Amino acid sequence: MRTQQELRDQLRKIDRKGYKAYKVLEGEYDFGTYRLCIDHVQGDPFATPSRVRIVYFNRTTIPEEYINVRHRRIAVEDALLRRLHRSLRACSDGGRKGSGKSGLVTACRTGQEILERTAMHVEKDLIEARIEVGFPAFGRTIAADALADILFGLLPETVRRTFGGQRGREALSGDTERKSAHDAKSGKMAGPAKKGTLEEELYRAVCLADDQKYIRDELKRCGLIAFVADGSVLPRESGVSQRPLENAVVFESPGRLAVTMQLPHRGAMRGMGIRQGITVIAGGGFHGKSTLLKALERGVYNHIAGDGREFVITDESAFKLRAEEGRCIHETDISMFIRNLPTRADTERFSTENASGSTSQSANTVEALAAGSSVLLIDEDTSATNFMIRDERMAQLVSDEKEPITPFIRKVRSLYEKLGVSTVLVAGSSGDFLTVADTVLQMDCYTARDVTERAKELAADLIQEKAEKKEWLKKPVAKRRIEKVRVHGWDTVSLDRTEIDLRYLEQIVDESQTAALAYIMQYVLERMADGRKNASELAGEAARKLEKEGILSMTPKNYGAGPAAMVRKQEILACLCRYRLL
Ligand code: ADP
Ligand code: MG
Repeated sequence: MRTQQELRDQLRKIDRKGYKAYKVLEGEYDFGTYRLCIDHVQGDPFATPSRVRIVYFNRTTIPEEYINVRHRRIAVEDALLRRLHRSLRACSDGGRKGSGKSGLVTACRTGQEILERTAMHVEKDLIEARIEVGFPAFGRTIAADALADILFGLLPETVRRTFGGQRGREALSGDTERKSAHDAKSGKMAGPAKKGTLEEELYRAVCLADDQKYIRDELKRCGLIAFVADGSVLPRESGVSQRPLENAVVFESPGRLAVTMQLPHRGAMRGMGIRQGITVIAGGGFHGKSTLLKALERGVYNHIAGDGREFVITDESAFKLRAEEGRCIHETDISMFIRNLPTRADTERFSTENASGSTSQSANTVEALAAGSSVLLIDEDTSATNFMIRDERMAQLVSDEKEPITPFIRKVRSLYEKLGVSTVLVAGSSGDFLTVADTVLQMDCYTARDVTERAKELAADLIQEKAEKKEWLKKPVAKRRIEKVRVHGWDTVSLDRTEIDLRYLEQIVDESQTAALAYIMQYVLERMADGRKNASELAGEAARKLEKEGILSMTPKNYGAGPAAMVRKQEILACLCRYRLL
């Protein structure tokens, strides 16, 4: 490890030289309370910024019981990353100085969800933060003084404010906290230290994580697939913002579906428990059906305090199904829904480069089953109608033998009874689903009502068919070398020249998850694929590795496609299946 003085000397030597001379700075430097690691220097001022790691020696900051269980550690990492953002904002004097990305200092952006990320990593004795620094230049000439200001001024100050315990309090000034419907009710949440300190912030994050974990575990014990706490705020500010809508109608459970859980920190909490089986969310247009479903989709992740959905918790394996015209399908058994196509294509081993609405939604369904999802979430707004239902009159006009599609409605019951897979379905227009539902909710002016009894009166029996558990995905995946991975925005991963379109995976909630998928794809195709295992076996193997060894274990050191955040097996499988060269 080199000293600070050596870093200063190097900087002086390369000042005013060509940009490439910055490369000599790669290495590790001793900064007393932390180690500065310059892992990767950008090639020119316009390239993605340089990768810098700060390894802070954690002696007193974080109690051991905060990091020795996974859910707490992730909450602590998330809280530290958000603190780092605030400190960077407070210490930076506006960023850009010079050409390209000169002088930009950033850390992985965060949203409303709490995800394990490469950007912040905590272990027993150390805290590791990964940040991006645009090494400054004028044109392509090194501006060493400007970099010195960052490395010897901005960064040490940021580190002190972020990790410096009590002394870090200034970092919080000007931080306005949003009031949550659940906030401040319980005296138990008052932390051990003064408000606004690092200690208190971590304590609160850990308590919230414990409570969320408790609900998640409790779901399984109680035969529930989701919990929506009374007082939750489900709608979002706008179509482009995930912040809570102000003055929203807060959620309240209908009486018969209400359950009360005894959370370890907050104590008793009442809310709606959605039972296993088939749940239909009915109601008129614009009454809040899709909003409830969207909250359930995202309930596979934990949310930050003040989000409004921090106590909306869904079975972690829940998968949102939708139509996705144009996607590719590789040797997949969709015969459960589709047989006897006019082309005589084999639907037990179906492949296409250009799926229709119904074939794509069939593939999405069996892939979810292959990924081990035990809850399917469906909104009629984004489904292929002919995949979902076929009414009486149409069945009379076009006989069953002439219709290749067995609609989802005929399978939904046996999916539950034979495979234990529950469904939550938004259906405002088709009454047919009422006949197969165990629970019917009606959204009425944003208020949930239990209308199961009334719906049962209206219902008549419907033909049921078997769902057999089988090998859905038949294509063995060959090993492949990937030279370069990139991401474009949230929804496209590219492996060398081939793009994977992730636009319709609605449970990808963060661009860092897209980056993670890029790295995981490369890792899986290069190191796990062997020409025998299929996509779901590979996705399972990758998910187990991530769970055991963390997100860093599959992220390359220069994280060229950006910082990464945790993804589930479901999204890994979905990404593999959408890769056209699989
Ligand atoms: P639906 O799917 O039933 O047609 P949506 O869920 O799309 O209805 O909701 C319609 C509109 O109402 C959206 O703009 C949404 O943000 C708003 N909204 C939903 N729930 C609430 C609520 N609890 N309070 C206030 N506005 C809401
Ligand atoms: Mg809707």
